[in-house]
Amino acid sequence: MIDVCLLGTGGMMPLPNRWLTSLMLRYNGKCILLDCGEGTQIAMKKKGLSPNPISTILFTHYHADHISGLPGMLLAMGNAERTEPVLIVGPKGLERVVSSLRVIAPELPFEIRFRELTEGLETFELPGEPAFHITALRANHRVTCYCYSFELERAGRFDAAAAKEKNIPLTYWSRLQKGETIEDPAAPSGVYTPDMVMGPARKGLKIAYATDSRPCDNIVTAARDADLFICEGMYGEEDKLSKAKEKKHMTFGEAARIGAKAQPAAMWLTHFSPSEMHPENYIKAAQKIYPPVVCGKDGKSLTLNFEEDKFGSDADASLPNNPR
Ligand SMILES: [Zn+2]
Ligand SMILES: [Zn+2]
Repeated sequence: MIDVCLLGTGGMMPLPNRWLTSLMLRYNGKCILLDCGEGTQIAMKKKGLSPNPISTILFTHYHADHISGLPGMLLAMGNAERTEPVLIVGPKGLERVVSSLRVIAPELPFEIRFRELTEGLETFELPGEPAFHITALRANHRVTCYCYSFELERAGRFDAAAAKEKNIPLTYWSRLQKGETIEDPAAPSGVYTPDMVMGPARKGLKIAYATDSRPCDNIVTAARDADLFICEGMYGEEDKLSKAKEKKHMTFGEAARIGAKAQPAAMWLTHFSPSEMHPENYIKAAQKIYPPVVCGKDGKSLTLNFEEDKFGSDADASLPNNPR
């Protein structure tokens, strides 16, 4: 299961009732923050979220509305006595940008690790089980910008009949289920391995996040068949297309056309221009292009659960709420 919270939905500048676009993902006790503009801490506080558990911060690009909240966020994490390292991911220039911002947040009780994105497409995993894959793909903005997809793997079903047939001691079952390999002289080849008792991997969960960009194939790839796709929609009116092209952003219609190509189960728009006081006024036209698209709202959250298993009950699969 993944908890998703769209902390803010604004672009360019925070407004009294609209914080800057930022996303928080939580799974298995881990916490990932995407983008951190001015005021992101306040948006988190409003949702009752603490900065201390954030283990990974990803940046799409280095425009101020996506990164200027970082020094304060790091200080807040330090004040909450975080000591575990924090991974920061972002485009080329990452260490230089973060070091410059850290002039005003020099002393932190935790280490910062960096992963700088240099290729057009990069994939990496966060440590821990189940595997959490992150794919960064280059988007098309005025500065180097990446969109991201996140995939939480789901292991296969435990096959108790196979475990019995292979005479695997009961005390090993849960360890094998967790992916452990166990050495035991009684085993046929000296080891019991998870593949002896686990069925094929089941459908996991996928989330995609794309802001600020013109439409491009990489965003379609990132969002393909996602359970939830969060995409920028800077302008609601289609007659602002030339402005969107000039500023390298998108209209709602352009975002919806990406949805129609990528077919995510749910789709939220975000990063609204400060001039768009009522973005929901334009959503119907976008829904004609791709019906699932809706306007994001500050604090909008969703819990994505693994799809119900077709074969018998499963504790973590029986929860409702999957938008598929
Ligand atoms: Zn922006
Ligand atoms: Zn930007």
